[in-house]
Amino acid sequence: MPTRILGIESSCDETAAAVVVDGREILSSVVSSQLDIHRKYGGVVPELASREHLRQIVPVVREALSQAGLHFKDIDAVGVTQGPGLVGSLLVGVTYGKVLATELGKPLVPVNHLEGHVHAVFLEAHIGGKAPELPAICLIVSGGHTLLYHVQSSAPTAERNAEGNGDAAERGFEFRRLGGTRDDAAGEAYDKVARLLALGYPGGPIIDQIAGKVAASGEKFREKDAPNFGPVKIKGNSYDFSFSGVKTAVLYYVRAYPEFTDEIETRKKALQEGRRKAADLFPLCSPRTLAVISKFQSAVVRDLVTRTLEAAQETGSRTVLVSGGVAANSELRERFTSKAAAMGVSVFFPSRALSTDNAAMIAAAAYPHLLAGHLAPTDLNAEPNLRLA
Ligand code: ADP
Ligand code: MG
Repeated sequence: MPTRILGIESSCDETAAAVVVDGREILSSVVSSQLDIHRKYGGVVPELASREHLRQIVPVVREALSQAGLHFKDIDAVGVTQGPGLVGSLLVGVTYGKVLATELGKPLVPVNHLEGHVHAVFLEAHIGGKAPELPAICLIVSGGHTLLYHVQSSAPTAERNAEGNGDAAERGFEFRRLGGTRDDAAGEAYDKVARLLALGYPGGPIIDQIAGKVAASGEKFREKDAPNFGPVKIKGNSYDFSFSGVKTAVLYYVRAYPEFTDEIETRKKALQEGRRKAADLFPLCSPRTLAVISKFQSAVVRDLVTRTLEAAQETGSRTVLVSGGVAANSELRERFTSKAAAMGVSVFFPSRALSTDNAAMIAAAAYPHLLAGHLAPTDLNAEPNLRLA
């Protein structure tokens, strides 16, 4: 019998629900983003986030069921994000999940949000008829996280052996933490730099698009007065990250050139009028600003790619998995793909929709835990600092 899991995600600023069969087949995936609510504050406001989750959770779950063509009674289990994330946001999902599972008399599976991001890569690979080989190096890179793990398949239990061993989606994963950011997450650095340059919120997509336009228009003008963000130096663990330095370098560079002030004001005005697309803002950026944007992006991307591929090389892993909101970045995808190919390493990314927070990855991550009997206790609580390893 196929197992239909309803996944629920509310760890940050997306209220999401999805139905996934056997950890692999997405029947529906609904995401209600709170971008429009947090935009005017230039970042996620925790109190507003919890309030919005409360408003959205019931309609989002209903929509996920309706798109899957199912009723509540057709669900075999509920998987819910337990952490890490904002406590008030997590509590909405956890509480709703507990009540729903109890009323339906179905098992509730607590899910680590980060483990969900890894499953997102496998969901996408499955859609493309592929199965990433393990062990792998996994980079989780979003607004809240920049983490590097060594991932392997969980040891098969006697029970699962009897069922034919199972693939990764069924067996789940074992993680070893290699490193993580010591200060800002990569997405956070994108958001802060975008704010500094008046490019709107969130910063990732707009900086990605403008940098792409700069690359398409030729590199010459940008080199001549471009700032130079050298490689990020890290003492100790070379798998750790640090992005506050490059963010601060942007800040100092902007302060050093008074001519930035006027164009920043012009862009602020454009943003207030709702003109926030790359096509609106690109013409409002001087060559020097365009140089800062593309140099900033290259510095971040190079650092992420270099450290991750070094980890692959040193651990003898032939697969790299990249997930989280920043995995949507075009330059990151291109650079990973070309550098990894030269090393004989395969890189897997989720689609854009599966990269950012969603509940399909939560339902998929719940499946191996359901099979292994890792169910929620009746007093399940949100864990804002939950770790993967
Ligand atoms: P979280 O909710 O943990 O912050 P998400 O997975 O929802 O993470 O991702 C949101 C983050 O991803 C934001 O910081 C955003 O700026 C960043 N982001 C989204 N798209 C891109 C992109 N194309 N390039 C770089 N960063 C991006
Ligand atoms: Mg988010």
